[in-house]
Amino acid sequence: MGRYQLRCLECNHIVKDHYTLSCHDNALLRTEYVKHTLTLKNLPGIWQFHDWLPVSGSMGSGDAPVTYQSKGLARELGLHNLHISFNGYLPERGAFIKTCSFKELESPATLQRSIEHGNKTFVVSSAGNTARAFAQTASEVGLPLVIVIPVPCMNRLWITNEVPDNIKVIAVDGDYYDAIMLGNRIGAINGFRNEGGAKNVARRDGMGIVMLDAAVRMKTLPKHYFQAIGSGTGGIAAWEASIRLIQDGRFGDQMPHLHLAQSAPFAPIFNAWSGNRNILAPEDVPDKSQIKETYTDILSNRNPPYSIKGGVADALSKTDGQVYAIENDEARDAKQRFESAEGVDILRPAAIAVAALCRAVDTGSIDPNDMILLNITGGGLARLKEDYSPNHLGADLVVGANDLDDLNDLNDSNTLTNGILDEIMEIL
Ligand SMILES: *Cc1c(COP(=O)(O)O)cnc(C)c1O
Ligand SMILES: [Zn+2]
Repeated sequence: MGRYQLRCLECNHIVKDHYTLSCHDNALLRTEYVKHTLTLKNLPGIWQFHDWLPVSGSMGSGDAPVTYQSKGLARELGLHNLHISFNGYLPERGAFIKTCSFKELESPATLQRSIEHGNKTFVVSSAGNTARAFAQTASEVGLPLVIVIPVPCMNRLWITNEVPDNIKVIAVDGDYYDAIMLGNRIGAINGFRNEGGAKNVARRDGMGIVMLDAAVRMKTLPKHYFQAIGSGTGGIAAWEASIRLIQDGRFGDQMPHLHLAQSAPFAPIFNAWSGNRNILAPEDVPDKSQIKETYTDILSNRNPPYSIKGGVADALSKTDGQVYAIENDEARDAKQRFESAEGVDILRPAAIAVAALCRAVDTGSIDPNDMILLNITGGGLARLKEDYSPNHLGADLVVGANDLDDLNDLNDSNTLTNGILDEIMEIL
């Protein structure tokens, strides 16, 4: 059966992996690895965790997170076992993720999995950090890539390498959801492949490295795991990695509690979870116009994998987890506290997680002696700019709002007669 198999969480059947994203639509697939004991490989970065990645080989790209015990923030909050998983650029601590977010844990494993299942051009839709991560990895290993991104997010699209010709950027005059719809259309064309988001086991198992690295460094699973979420895929990944670590046996048998945090003005997962719903009700999803009120639009996902089997609602209930809605002033305050206590800048989404930790301390819902893992999902951007000058990617084509409407009216995903699809094909 090879190194791993995929199990459908709806029908429990084993599914053969052809870069397969689903069996039943209402359920995720989950990877089951032959090796129940994690043995670190003598390979660089994330490839140390090869035992629990759904690939056969590896590539020459893929920096790992750094887990370290906090002194500054721990003292500030009165915590005795606070550990930080730093996903960003901070060479002083051995952190070298140059696109400064944990999305770069996903891109190498995902692109490697894609290569191993046929030679197709990879298509990724993103509000910024995912596109940046995939562009960085693709540029490091020389793979073609198509990025679909909302125009307002273009400023987040840069890499530290020279921008190669075989990375094409399509900017859409719309939001993240529109980018996903167009990305799906292009990914369905012969010779292209859509990355698949949360349904892609390589993306989740890549993000799961945060928990693996932490458990190895801490020699135990944490009691509490804090993370800012938009889709919540990182939360699912932390839960799945914990299942494997418990099965391994060397890291304790206590499932960590997930503490997942959203930005209050746009917090659909918070709304559903606090309303005791395991589906997103229409009233849980705020109007699009709320996105501009958030502390960071990175977390404003309108369609998260919440109710799907094995998704966020299951992860929360199986870990006895909780969800926070963080106000903008709390987030601002938390960012400043973290940065002065730990001496490195963090991205705004990471400040949402720090604020959740501050609140948990204030309300006494965690014990000062508890083993805590704080996922700093992005940071070190200011630090990076001391060493690198980022190269911004330009749009090869801008798709207007009218063209998007026309595309969405078309049903057959392979119809190439539509004008804008022809234009897209011309640049690819
Ligand atoms: C994508 C992202 C998140 C949210 O991750 P999900 O688990 O996919 O919701 C948090 N922080 C940063 C910096 C991100 O880029
Ligand atoms: Zn199934």
